[in-house]
Amino acid sequence: MNTEYIRLEHGGGGKLMRLLIENLVIPSFSIKKVEGGTGLLEEDDGAVIPIENGYLVLTTDAHTVKPLFFPGGDIGKLAVCGTINDLAAMGAKPIAITSAIIIEEGFPFSQLKRILDSMNSTLMEVGIPLVAGDTKVVEKGGIDKIVIATSGIGYTKDPIFDSRLKPGNLIIITGPVGRHEIALLSQREGLKFEIQLESDVKPLWSVVELALKAGRITSMKDPTRGGVAGALNEMARKSNVNIKIWEDKVPVDEEIRGIAEMLGIDILETTNEGIMIMGVAKEDAEKVLKAVKSTKYGRKASIIGEVEKGEGIVILETSTGGKRIIEEPIGSPLPRIC
Ligand code: MG
Repeated sequence: MNTEYIRLEHGGGGKLMRLLIENLVIPSFSIKKVEGGTGLLEEDDGAVIPIENGYLVLTTDAHTVKPLFFPGGDIGKLAVCGTINDLAAMGAKPIAITSAIIIEEGFPFSQLKRILDSMNSTLMEVGIPLVAGDTKVVEKGGIDKIVIATSGIGYTKDPIFDSRLKPGNLIIITGPVGRHEIALLSQREGLKFEIQLESDVKPLWSVVELALKAGRITSMKDPTRGGVAGALNEMARKSNVNIKIWEDKVPVDEEIRGIAEMLGIDILETTNEGIMIMGVAKEDAEKVLKAVKSTKYGRKASIIGEVEKGEGIVILETSTGGKRIIEEPIGSPLPRIC
């Protein structure tokens, strides 16, 4: 590893990013959590802060997607969904978000308005406000067009961590894999397909809320950068269990699978912005699956695997009975995906 300069792979959501965070970022801060809560050391989707009657969850994300407008969404929708979904992954009902917007000199008002309207309609869908913000403008060339950082706060009585999978749990995925990254890549590369490919970017609180009511969810994570392979590896490693995934149960839209193969991309490593991975108590799995499937974003949900005793490995079982280890991704060099 080149230890002197940041490379694109350091932001790729894989092993290089994890090592950067663990070796440089986290050690730089002396106080790593609020007393009684969780924080930097857990490296979860958000931090947990105890209050009198439960917990606040606090999370933050920055968004630098290219192109700014893509099929199925734009940077505004992405910025809101990224934060809502990290709160949801902690089992927290979103309360409010804030945003910091950095704009390059010369950026059109019309595009900024489109982005703000998109943020607003996504917030309206979830039913929460944007309550504070910051706007900065930098000189031409200082950044590429616009960067949006959002923070969100949510509430839960029982936070859900990505480190609590138990042997015997089943793994549910709430929708098909790969749509965000493949839609973005196709547009960037100017690829034309008969079917209009759309990003899956969606706010998932409505899905998670019903799932939480339906049964016991032990652990949760949204498979964004690093994809399903990255999220499962993180959950398995932190929970100190193995996860076995049944390849033919993983939902992938046919056209997405075809394009991923054509581009030589491992579909399990692609970035998603509208699906959640849930570890569920075995006896509750069918109930949770049914609840997820009853939501508009969860119709293609599937039970894709099970948790076994082990030391943190993810194993893919193919339809023919073959097995291979799904490795933690190193970190895609593909920037500006989310
Ligand atoms: Mg997350």
